[in-house]
Amino acid sequence: MRLRISVFLVVALMLLVGTTQAQDDLRVLATTSIVADVAQNIAGDLLTVDTLVPLGADTHAFEPSTADAARVAEATLLLTVGAGYEGFLGDLLENVGADTVQVIVVSNGVEILAFSDGHDDEHADSSAEAEDEHEGDDHHLGVLGGDLECAADEHEAADEAHAEEDHEHGACDAHVWTDPANVVIWANNIADAFSAADPANASLYRANADAYIAQLEALQEEIDALMAGVPEAARIIVTNHEFLGYFAYAYGFEVVGTVLPGATTDAEPNPQELAALITLIQAEGARGIFAEVSANSQLAEVVAQEAGIAVVTTLYSESLSPADGPAPTYLDYMRYNAQAIASALTG
Ligand SMILES: [Zn+2]
Repeated sequence: MRLRISVFLVVALMLLVGTTQAQDDLRVLATTSIVADVAQNIAGDLLTVDTLVPLGADTHAFEPSTADAARVAEATLLLTVGAGYEGFLGDLLENVGADTVQVIVVSNGVEILAFSDGHDDEHADSSAEAEDEHEGDDHHLGVLGGDLECAADEHEAADEAHAEEDHEHGACDAHVWTDPANVVIWANNIADAFSAADPANASLYRANADAYIAQLEALQEEIDALMAGVPEAARIIVTNHEFLGYFAYAYGFEVVGTVLPGATTDAEPNPQELAALITLIQAEGARGIFAEVSANSQLAEVVAQEAGIAVVTTLYSESLSPADGPAPTYLDYMRYNAQAIASALTG
């Protein structure tokens, strides 16, 4: 009898250990705090999602350490934005050995926009009227993971060359999360990835994703109402580096130029480019310059002062804020940015 009980106990214990083991074995790492927050909502308390790029850091300038490489090597799933956003990823995965970690591109299925052409030649020789309207599908490059792949080096190419080839083929703008509709796609992709890795809990991941998507839809309604208060004529803006393309497209804004040339935050404009931007701002009637907390915004302030328009230097772009800041979650991040943009353009 005693033997039977202990056998029963051992089997029961093995079953229990077996269940928790499955989830402990599943180590989820996300490249950025924004991806990690969305993923944690879908993981609920089943999984812990860690972040690779430190909070507040600029993903465009991120250089992984050997400790970072070790964290990637230990991960089961690596959740990435994709579309060429994580320029550091190719070398990192090569060092780690690509077989050990499964890379999930959460933006697969998103309609990718091209970076707009920035503030140089393009705008100087075209009439303001022509630029006023959306150019419709000209901005759409294709569906990521479907008919479109965006190489990581396109991001840099847009920055360095910023000419002929990139204009023709269009470099992918990877800042897809500035439109919550794209984060609905993220949520579905993440739920699918978690379910594939941990099928026993598939229905829980699905339920968590559905609950989070309901919050994203409420967020969209909130932003719609906020933007309804921004006059059409005030929806012409300039950004520090180009990170609001999807937001602009979704809410009827036009980004007529950027302070920093190209797609990343590591390039600096020359004096002629700055002078051309000020002329452009006046010609297009742009109302505000929007800069991100993670990059140097001194030039944005100088340009805004010269052009006599509003400047906001506290938007969040690549990262969430710390827990005690204004944007500790993706939902807060969008609310905070949308409110700052609306109040600068209506105030
Ligand atoms: Zn960026």
